[in-house]
Amino acid sequence: MNDIKRRIVVLGAGESGFGAAVLAKDKGFDVFLSDSGSIASKYRDRLVAEGIAFEEGGHSMERILAADEIIKSPGIPLEAPVVKDALAKHIPLISEIEFAGRYTDSKMVCITGSNGKTTTTMLIHHILTHAGVDASLAGNVGKSLAYQVARDPHKVYVVELSSFQLDNMYDFKANIAVMLNITPDHLDRYDHKMQNYINAKFRILQNMTPTDTFIFWKDDPVISEQLRHISTDASLLPFSETPEEGSAAYIDAENELVFNTPVESMAMPRADLALNGLHNVFNSLAAGLSACICDVSKDAIREALADFSGVEHRLEFTADIDGVRWINDSKATNVNSCFYALESMTAPTVLILGGKDKGNDYSEILPLVKEKVKAIVAMGTDNAKIVDFFKDVVPVTDTHTLDDAIEACRRIAVTGDTVLLSPCCASFDLFSSYEDRGRKFKAAVRELKDK
Ligand code: ADP
Repeated sequence: MNDIKRRIVVLGAGESGFGAAVLAKDKGFDVFLSDSGSIASKYRDRLVAEGIAFEEGGHSMERILAADEIIKSPGIPLEAPVVKDALAKHIPLISEIEFAGRYTDSKMVCITGSNGKTTTTMLIHHILTHAGVDASLAGNVGKSLAYQVARDPHKVYVVELSSFQLDNMYDFKANIAVMLNITPDHLDRYDHKMQNYINAKFRILQNMTPTDTFIFWKDDPVISEQLRHISTDASLLPFSETPEEGSAAYIDAENELVFNTPVESMAMPRADLALNGLHNVFNSLAAGLSACICDVSKDAIREALADFSGVEHRLEFTADIDGVRWINDSKATNVNSCFYALESMTAPTVLILGGKDKGNDYSEILPLVKEKVKAIVAMGTDNAKIVDFFKDVVPVTDTHTLDDAIEACRRIAVTGDTVLLSPCCASFDLFSSYEDRGRKFKAAVRELKDK
């Protein structure tokens, strides 16, 4: 731990920036927080109460470039002028998680991947707390890790790590690292080079020792290929869909989830899982392995995997209206997550697709669309790509508002069908976030139910 750095600048005043500033202040640093936009009042009020110096609506470059170290919020891209200037001056740039890691010896269970991070993080946290472990959420979900380390410490942290967080992590060590999958995402932040994104994800393995555990999806071609080129001291616990040599967890011929670890071995029927869909079997395998390594009893793992209530906006059942099931999967902001949502559909599906395209290649979902989708309702300001791609496959309705999309689905879906919002796209053309999209979808569906 390096305590000689005295001046810390925190860039960004969201949950992570605020938490980092509090921890830095508690540790005796001279702290200055700077945000180029306006700071949400809940953080502004708390910064004032904490006596932390801050600015908003712009950056005082002289003060920022006088820092010994800068803690950057994950939402600020490396191309931002303030970051470029700091790098040019060789000021060390770290993430909030890296900073917090210096001040705690608590166990770190860290989850990364392109899809399934939040679900798996919540699932692991649910199992641990169900078993009475003093575990808390951090990273992309829950409260800032730095804040908790400063003011509300726990024995175990279950930390969701995006590639942006991992970008600025160096000495942080995970005790358990989970890597769910790697498919193209956020490539605009990685110079449009997949390898850069893969390298960022694999930073999760940095500093791990033989007493630490790396849990990963063995069948993922990107992960397997990368593992051929790098080495890690961590103990490996791969999981796979079917029993394979070396797999520590899989589904067996009797449709049971089987877990075999040096600490615990167990099995449970797939039918008992609370979450549906093959992707959630993978998430459950990863979560169960993590819990085994944390010494949680078999019974507690089985019970918790069976009674987990799910996460909002992820295949979230919204309503049954005249025998039509409406499902909110607004968090499916890329093609791969929609693939798994469709994979889990058991009824003819009316699929709502669209939004801000991130360079999508829809061929990945084409076979499932042919098999399960009876109609597509495109919802976005510009649906041309979706209409062109699918128009010869299934009927496509072109809509530009949520109300029109819902109305189209209502007309098309009949008793026994499912309407699935799993848009493959970011939400920013019509909504402020995927949460906003999901909540407005649910509100509109419930209104329909009340009519
Ligand atoms: P993340 O936090 O990585 O974005 P979430 O748990 O929020 O992941 O899930 C996002 C979307 O990805 C969900 O809508 C779900 O349909 C899909 N998904 C969840 N788990 C997986 C997985 N293991 N593999 C592929 N897709 C998944």
